[in-house]
Amino acid sequence: MSLNDMMAGLEPSRQGGLFDGIRKVVPYTPGEQPKGLDRIIKLNTNECPYSPSPRVMEVLAGIDGDLLRRYPSPDNEPLLSALSEYYGLDKKMIFTGVGSDDVLSMCFLTFFNSGRPVLFPDITYSFYDVWADVYRLPYKTLILDDDFRIDPTDYSVSNGGIVIANPNAPTGVSLDLDKIEYIVSHSRDSVVIVDEAYIDFGGESALPLLERHENLIVVRTMSKSRALAGLRVGYAFGNERLIKYLCDVKFSVNSYTLSHPAIRGAVAALEDDEYFKSVIGRIQSTRKAAEEALSSMGFVFNESKANFIFVKHERMDGATLYEALRERGIFVRHFNKERISDYLRITIGTDEEMDSLFSALKEILP
Ligand SMILES: *Cc1c(COP(=O)(O)O)cnc(C)c1O
Repeated sequence: MSLNDMMAGLEPSRQGGLFDGIRKVVPYTPGEQPKGLDRIIKLNTNECPYSPSPRVMEVLAGIDGDLLRRYPSPDNEPLLSALSEYYGLDKKMIFTGVGSDDVLSMCFLTFFNSGRPVLFPDITYSFYDVWADVYRLPYKTLILDDDFRIDPTDYSVSNGGIVIANPNAPTGVSLDLDKIEYIVSHSRDSVVIVDEAYIDFGGESALPLLERHENLIVVRTMSKSRALAGLRVGYAFGNERLIKYLCDVKFSVNSYTLSHPAIRGAVAALEDDEYFKSVIGRIQSTRKAAEEALSSMGFVFNESKANFIFVKHERMDGATLYEALRERGIFVRHFNKERISDYLRITIGTDEEMDSLFSALKEILP
């Protein structure tokens, strides 16, 4: 029975009423998490191809029931202290959450409350417009140029906040620090969020700008560069006052966000910096080799500073390539969206995974 048929059976005064008063949104579509992970090669959600640090695994294996019986620290301690030490920033300048999606969502709810439009690029992380919609915030997208670059002067208009992913997703293009500073310093009356989900793989972090700009928030995640997408840990840096407002909103929604295992695992990941750096190095060198291989096969792309490459083929459209790879058990990301439907976003996997990708592409390409 359809929803309308069900409604028809209700008394007239109730018709429509129940469903009228409900918040309806078009949700974000996450990359597919296919079942039977053994056979497939998954290059579609920018996960790390390597395991987390062995120290993380030790700490998780050692968690006992007595710890789980208790609520975790509402401040997500000892993670807050570990982040403060690692980044050399006061604890009052740090906010933690359940992955950076949670952190960003809280930022939208807290900082973009002016009624003026929030600005972000037309091609960027596709969660930004979803949060704007779910919180009923007005927003405006600004067009990237043909090379997917931002013109910072576009953002010097009245706005209720700005969000920039740097390096950008899904393009991998990074924005120079002086351009970020230009944007931040031309919107002093609104909060500028720089989403640095991929910054560990390349590009310049906006963290040094925090000293000079009270309207800046920098958001990070452990999901990509620290191989902890499954643990769900993200954080943000900003001046004390902004972080205080963010915490107030968080404590009005959910006091206990990170679980004990997430807090402990994240601390262990920060402690093993040697492992972290070696993983980054491996991914960067695989990325370099992949750029050479893909360009020799006729793919075009901008230089990527992230753990993925956003490619287009001269002779084959994105949807066809995506399907052909999928049939061979290789998952990449295709966005059925204006301006980018000819592209594929390919996560950097292990060298072996990339070799399988290249063999498949050689079979598929005309
Ligand atoms: C992956 C990603 C995130 C979210 O990651 P979490 O797993 O929620 O930490 C945020 N922003 C961008 C641009 C991303 O690509």
